[in-house]
Amino acid sequence: MVIAGAPGLELIGPVFERQRLRALALRTSSAAVRIATLRRLEAEIFRQRAALYEALHEDLRKPEAEVDLSELMPVIQEIRHACRNVAGWMAPRRVRPTRVMWGTRASVRAQPRGVALIIAPWNYPFNLALGPLVSAIAAGCTAIIKPSEFAPRTAALIGAIVAACFETDEVALFEGDAAMATALLDLPFDHVFFTGSPAVGRIVMAAAARHLASVTLELGGKSPVIVDRTADLDKAARSIVWGKFANNGQTCIAPDHAYVHRDSVTPFIAAVLRHLAAMYGEGGRSPDYCRIVTPQHFERIRRLIEDARARGATVHVGGVYDAADKFIAPTLLSGVPADALIMHEEIFGPVLPIVPFDDIGEPIRAINAQPKPLALYVFSRDAAAAERIIAQTAAGGSCVNAVMAQYLHANLPFGGINNSGIGSAHGHYGFRAFSHERAVLNDRFSAAPMLFPPYSRGVRRMIKLILRFLT
Ligand code: NAD
Repeated sequence: MVIAGAPGLELIGPVFERQRLRALALRTSSAAVRIATLRRLEAEIFRQRAALYEALHEDLRKPEAEVDLSELMPVIQEIRHACRNVAGWMAPRRVRPTRVMWGTRASVRAQPRGVALIIAPWNYPFNLALGPLVSAIAAGCTAIIKPSEFAPRTAALIGAIVAACFETDEVALFEGDAAMATALLDLPFDHVFFTGSPAVGRIVMAAAARHLASVTLELGGKSPVIVDRTADLDKAARSIVWGKFANNGQTCIAPDHAYVHRDSVTPFIAAVLRHLAAMYGEGGRSPDYCRIVTPQHFERIRRLIEDARARGATVHVGGVYDAADKFIAPTLLSGVPADALIMHEEIFGPVLPIVPFDDIGEPIRAINAQPKPLALYVFSRDAAAAERIIAQTAAGGSCVNAVMAQYLHANLPFGGINNSGIGSAHGHYGFRAFSHERAVLNDRFSAAPMLFPPYSRGVRRMIKLILRFLT
């Protein structure tokens, strides 16, 4: 039965029940079976490559190179990394006995959690639906995907890929909006992997709590970048322009706003303007520049810019709109008052506010006064200063002298902290998100039975002795 692309709410219950049965069978699936499944998915993705470029151009005006870099590459890397490592990840991990556990043999076994629900956002709609699916398959789970309704062509294409690769009792996709997500969340999934906003993350976690389903929440927020007095300003400006304006700023780990040492503000702004023109042409009129996803998001970002302007911010470049085309020119702001909306909401658009500082303690205090960000970036030639910033702040992940590169490192966990997320994705961390680490202890000749009641004098002395030597 192919339901991808034309789902009905009435189908989700039966598909879920069939996935439960299949999940039991997959519990003992071998690494070879999981690898074969992942290879099948990879082959189908490559077969649909032209359609993928088309869908993402339609949904977000993404240029082909950016589709390759930010949608295809992460998913293919996840697949190949998992194929290379899944046998090792699945292998029981022996643990040494502690002193009181002499005579036992123990191991940690990664077992599939079971039936997983993957809810994806629209900004990297392909990557953020299929990346978690790769981890779910590697871990031996079945999965239902709910892609975002705001990238409908890509959602339909993912549905076609899923339908070509899987029976619905292993992987199914249901298109739809919040109503579909809500209906899915009513089912007792074993794990919910959600990528999206902190506001909806709260709703998802509350819904998962009804079934005590474990969750991975990949959320967002305001990710700051600090450019200190010693930074290579040209490198900082070039990296930040790329990180901020790729995908029109609609990236969860994009630098949201930049704290720049006051002495460096003027040359930094000049460098940003130079790199903006080089990457995206005058006023962002380059085919490499994406568009805002929906008229509602366009209005939201316009409101943020106009609110800052009305409160006296300087617009160095941009602040130019074309509503019919959902186009907002790359915009650089300074002198933004602290109470402007743009300093409180996640921007998620092509606007970079610059905030000057005199002492490095100022941005550290400002960051610690806000919810913990998904990413925090530092540009500095002073290793001790960079280390101090990282040690004194909290963030999901960080780069020194780079932005967003932490996402592409397959051996690093990717995730937030509190408001920016719970749990981690990618590689082994993604596999673990969809696995339960089960403790298995085999008693061969431990001393435990000697401590059973009746608590005679001898037993009591032995317990006290053990207490003394406990490690
Ligand atoms: P969103 O939270 O509005 O939607 C995400 C998904 O949740 C969509 O599939 C949507 O249909 C669904 N949804 C909406 N309302 C729901 C409800 N009431 N109950 C259940 N599900 C519901 O997010 P978005 O606008 O698609 O994406 C932007 C946000 O996602 C930003 O905050 C961004 O930072 C964050 N994000 C985070 C990551 C990450 O990896 N941490 C990646 C991309 C985006």
